[in-house]
Formats: sequence, C-alpha cells, structure tokens
Amino acid sequence: MSSPCVITVAITGSLPTKKDNPAVPITIAEQVESTQEAFEAGASLVHCHVRDDEGKPTSDPARFARLLEGLRKHCPGMIVQLSTGGRSGAGRERGGMIPLKPDMASLSTGSCNFPTRVYENSPDLVTWLASEMKAHGVKPEVEAFDLSMVFKAAEMAKAGEIAGPLHVQFVMGVKNAMPVDRPAFEFYVATLKRIAPDATWTGAGIGRDQFTLNRWSLELGGHCRTGLEDNVRLDRTTLAPSNAALVKRIVDACPQYGRRPATAAEARKLLGLPAAA
Ligand code: MG
Repeated sequence: MSSPCVITVAITGSLPTKKDNPAVPITIAEQVESTQEAFEAGASLVHCHVRDDEGKPTSDPARFARLLEGLRKHCPGMIVQLSTGGRSGAGRERGGMIPLKPDMASLSTGSCNFPTRVYENSPDLVTWLASEMKAHGVKPEVEAFDLSMVFKAAEMAKAGEIAGPLHVQFVMGVKNAMPVDRPAFEFYVATLKRIAPDATWTGAGIGRDQFTLNRWSLELGGHCRTGLEDNVRLDRTTLAPSNAALVKRIVDACPQYGRRPATAAEARKLLGLPAAA
C-alpha cells in the first residue's frame, strides 16, 4: 500500500520575476491558472503570495481576497495557504489577510539571517500572528528555518497558542540559514517526532536542491513542497516550463518510495483540516 503525500506548490513567492522565468505567475489571473494546472498535476496545497501591478510583493488583503476567490472557484477542495512572510510587508500588516479565513497561513516562529537581510520575527509578532490565526480558525504551517523554531512551535502547540496537530515545514537551502544537509534533516525529523509526536511535516529545498529535499521527504515519510517560488529550474540548465512541471517531477518519483500524491480530500484529513465546504 502506498502512503499519500501532500504536495505543496509555492507558485509565486516574492522574489522571482518574469526575467528569472517567464512562467512565474504574477497577476491574479496568472496565479489562478498556474495553480489550476498544478492542482490537476497532483498538488493538493497551494502556498500564495501576491504582487502589485509592478510585480512587487505586497500584503494587500484585497489582492489576497481576489486570489482566494479565484482559487476556490477553479481548484475546488485544494488547501489554500496564504503567506505571512516578511518580504511582503512589515510587522502586523503581514497578517492583514488572516481574517479572510484561508485554510492555512504560514508562520515563522523565530528569526534568522537570509541572503542579504535579517528575517525578523519578534516574539511579540509571532504570538500575535498565531493568535490571529487561532481567532479566525486558520491552521498555521510553521516555517522552520532553524531548529529553535521547531522547539518554539512545539512549545506553542503545548500552550494551546497553535491549535493542534502541528504542521511544520523544514526549510533548507536559504543562504545564511540552514544548508541542505542530510544528517541535520534527519535530526529535524527525529526531533519533531520526539517533542510533538502527532505533528506532520514537509521538507522544502530552496534553489538547486529543491528535488533533493523532495526525495528525502518522500523517503522519510513526510510531505513535499515545490514550485517556482523556491526554484525556477528543472535542472542546472533548463527553466521549469510551469509550476505543474515541478509538481509532476514529484508525482513521477512517488512510486519509487511507495508513495502517491494525496488528493485534496486526503490532504485535508492528513493535516487535520475540515472537509472543503
Ligand atoms: Mg513563501
């Protein structure tokens, strides 16, 4: 029996441009279309950022609302996760879209260095974002850029600040944060299992090692994240033609590890989310 894998597609992010890869979806219409293709290819969760008319990242709740509406219409049942990441705004404006009640929102539980800046998540902001999510029935995906963030998430779950079961994403490959390192990855998985036994997890590789993390996650029983936000190439030289192509790469690898892509309904069960309305 193969076990289902929740495939997350991070369609846009805040950094890649059409110059990096013309397939990066920028407008709401492009984002909805790209997500629909990825959904049909096997993704069951979409991680979303929005851009303004110039393509710059924004946390404008009105844009998020339009995107959410399009996704619910064209990708029925798909889990929609909105980013509260720090490149799209400052302080509490990063959580301004939480009242839209997406299925999930991202939540970093600590600070670290990024390639050219500090990724700042003060204790106050982390607590506030988590409380907003809880108040609006939005499940957090904890974005763990280092081990301390995993411990903080488990502590918050125990304290009831995050409604359980916990879902954590281990992010590797961001310059100046955690590199792509197999023993460290295994330690992440073992530590989460020890301190939050009912937690689920996803591995995310940023840049050239995206598919390495996909394979490790399939092998160790976790879930997978891919998409043009994290990496715009299929291999060292070929641009990915679409988000769907990156999803298909995981779908094709699944049987080798006794896995299969989860349907949206299965993904909701696995992550403890209510069935789609
Ligand atoms: Mg993101």
